[in-house]
Amino acid sequence: MKILVINCGSSSLKYQLIDMTNEEVLAKGLAERIGIDGSRVKHRTIGKEEVIIEKPMSNHKVALEIVLNALTDSEHGAIKSMEEISAVGHRVVHGGEKFSGSVVIDDEVLKVLRECSDLAPLHNPPNIMGIEACQELMPNTPMVGVFDTAFHQTMPKSSYIYPLPYELYEKYGIRKYGFHGTSHKYVSNRAAEILGKDINELNIITCHLGNGASLAAIKRGKSIDTSMGFTPLEGLVMGTRCGDIDPAIVTFLMEKENMSISEVNNLLNKKSGVLGISGVSSDFRDIEEAAAKGNERAQLALDKFTSRVKKYIGAYAAIMGGVDVIVFTAGLGENSPETREAICEGLEFMGIEIDKDKNKVRGKETIVSTENSKVKVLVVPTNEELMIARETKALV
Ligand code: ADP
Repeated sequence: MKILVINCGSSSLKYQLIDMTNEEVLAKGLAERIGIDGSRVKHRTIGKEEVIIEKPMSNHKVALEIVLNALTDSEHGAIKSMEEISAVGHRVVHGGEKFSGSVVIDDEVLKVLRECSDLAPLHNPPNIMGIEACQELMPNTPMVGVFDTAFHQTMPKSSYIYPLPYELYEKYGIRKYGFHGTSHKYVSNRAAEILGKDINELNIITCHLGNGASLAAIKRGKSIDTSMGFTPLEGLVMGTRCGDIDPAIVTFLMEKENMSISEVNNLLNKKSGVLGISGVSSDFRDIEEAAAKGNERAQLALDKFTSRVKKYIGAYAAIMGGVDVIVFTAGLGENSPETREAICEGLEFMGIEIDKDKNKVRGKETIVSTENSKVKVLVVPTNEELMIARETKALV
């Protein structure tokens, strides 16, 4: 069974074709600059050279047509015909309260997804465009939606409700939803497998640390709290997002700086985080480099980032009544030994002990805690595409 996994952004379409008999990636690529000048598809069938196809792409349907042609191309392709694709798994950012798991997409599901667009105006509309393009071009192939929010639907109400007038939850669905769910689910399950333990007997804290970053408290395989909230702005200090701040700062800024709603939104989402503090970059590699050269604000940004992750680890250990496993994943979590070490430093009192040699690893599944560490600390590269393909296979 071959499954095509699709992840659509407003001007991009990422894809992977996965053979589920051995979970091997057959081909992958990216269509970028859809709807703007200079659009192109970068396609690679594993074992063959990458090809770049430069063609105007006015919308996602045109992009998908080019992708399907690349996948079935006699020279650069991975399959003979589209008929070989048994199903398509779509990443969908927001499933609201309606979807606590993946679903086979039909008209009713699409209707609900459109209703959820209010909650994720930047993400759900392009996700829906991707689904509609596939439906037009592959009308007989089943489609599955896999949601970033679904894994966190197990949170108890005390975790997800905000201390605002309750009517706002009822009227607008203002509550914590959480994101990166596919990643938190994948790495927590993988960590249990690596340790040879039953996930139902573990308290796990997963740290997805990329440009966007979030933690999840996973008790017996279920998410019971996570750091992102109503939107992906809450929680940790991120590349350009502020995470938790005093909400009164918003109205203070609007008054003092005469800022509009969209200006404040832009400031909190695009100009804050480690970029805002350091003034150097949103990329942790640049900040680590600047800090190493003595840039104090770069160091301050790293310290703020680390200290907030530490706070959440402490909080999540407390609400779960202890922690057995900590998992690091995503760009920074997988590739920055310095960050992992800084986060775990001083947590020996909780039974967390990093082995500095093992922790030198980058991008490879590894147990990085010492033999004696009560809490096992692991690096597990995330694989959202594989998780989407597995969920899709299970449903079709
Ligand atoms: P997203 O998918 O949210 O855009 P990623 O998971 O790709 O983000 O993570 C990107 C972040 O990971 C960047 O800030 C980048 O600097 C950081 N990163 C990647 N590799 C390294 C590395 N070797 N050392 C430090 N940081 C790294």
